[in-house]
Amino acid sequence: MAAPAYLDWNATAPLRPEARAAMTAALDAAGNPSSVHAAGRAARLLVDEAREKIAALVGASAKDVVFTSGGTEANALALSPSIGGSLLASAIEHPSVRAGGRFTSVEDVPVTADGLVDLVALARLVAGRDRPLVSIMLANNETGVIQPVAKAAEIVHSAGGLLHVDAVQGPGRIACDFKALGADLMTLSAHKLGGPQGAGALIRREGLALEPLIKGGGQERGARAGTENVAAIAGFGAAAEAAGRALAVEVARMTALRDQLEAGIKAIASDAVIFGANTGARLPQTTLFSVPGMKAETAVIAFDLEGVAVSSGSACSSGKVAPSHVLAAMAVEPGLAKGAIRVSLGYSTGPNEVESFQKAWAKLAESLYKARKHKDIAA
Ligand code: PLP
Repeated sequence: MAAPAYLDWNATAPLRPEARAAMTAALDAAGNPSSVHAAGRAARLLVDEAREKIAALVGASAKDVVFTSGGTEANALALSPSIGGSLLASAIEHPSVRAGGRFTSVEDVPVTADGLVDLVALARLVAGRDRPLVSIMLANNETGVIQPVAKAAEIVHSAGGLLHVDAVQGPGRIACDFKALGADLMTLSAHKLGGPQGAGALIRREGLALEPLIKGGGQERGARAGTENVAAIAGFGAAAEAAGRALAVEVARMTALRDQLEAGIKAIASDAVIFGANTGARLPQTTLFSVPGMKAETAVIAFDLEGVAVSSGSACSSGKVAPSHVLAAMAVEPGLAKGAIRVSLGYSTGPNEVESFQKAWAKLAESLYKARKHKDIAA
């Protein structure tokens, strides 16, 4: 068996050493950030330093960062009828956006066959509406396709609406600037950039009032009650700082590895389809591919038996494989969509892991083609 390879970074990224060190130090400090004594002030300092680092990563002001328990909660906090008359969300959003937060219904904004939000449809959908709240992700978690967020912001703002951007899959992989994107609200999650699971943030445009989901305390300027998870927040801050360092070099390195991986997929299976590859705007470390006749459940297990962790493009939180709403929105033929495998890399992925993937893929593809041949003979 080849060396084990963790290639499921879009599900969660391994903890960065900087985050681990910051969390360990924070766990050893006793104070509650709301206490006025020295220990409390020390804990407050850890939270505020992390807030500064996260704000710096996305070009926002620290005072506009609201800590949450993760991306899911940040999305739920953002999507409130207190700031919008109706909710529209792209058809490829994460389920935590598609659930609609505190809205009772969500209207879909369609995407093109390449997985890009259809801006013409968006303009049509928001025209004449009373204060539309629109949610469009920065980059899709399955395909990696980067969305035309700044253009969408112009359309939404000219219709008098607000734009929420789920940027969970962006920072540390591509530049992500809150103001340049034109976002009014932006969701981040610590564990996608090498921080701990269970920490996230909602960034808000200055002065935008949020309707808290969790009430009963004045923490986070009244936007989210409850004693802050100091250690997780400290880890989030350290991960954000590390993720912002040498981004351009990292992007070039990941792109080269990803391209090598995709060339390897195609070399063995010339009929492999790489979803979203035609857009020219994908995360540098995400590949979603399928081959006719492949079944994602069996492929993920086959990779796992070879020590290679990948995911089915349509994996859901219960561990079962459901049809991908992303590929369905892109009008991908259902049989092909059923075989979609997502391979995602990160800052510590190296050529050895890509090689392990190639070996496992060669083995899997061979059995796939053998099975196909038998089927053809039997037919
Ligand atoms: N949004 C996107 C695009 C995601 O990929 C995820 C996680 O997979 C989330 C939101 C949810 O984030 P969290 O796991 O921090 O709740």
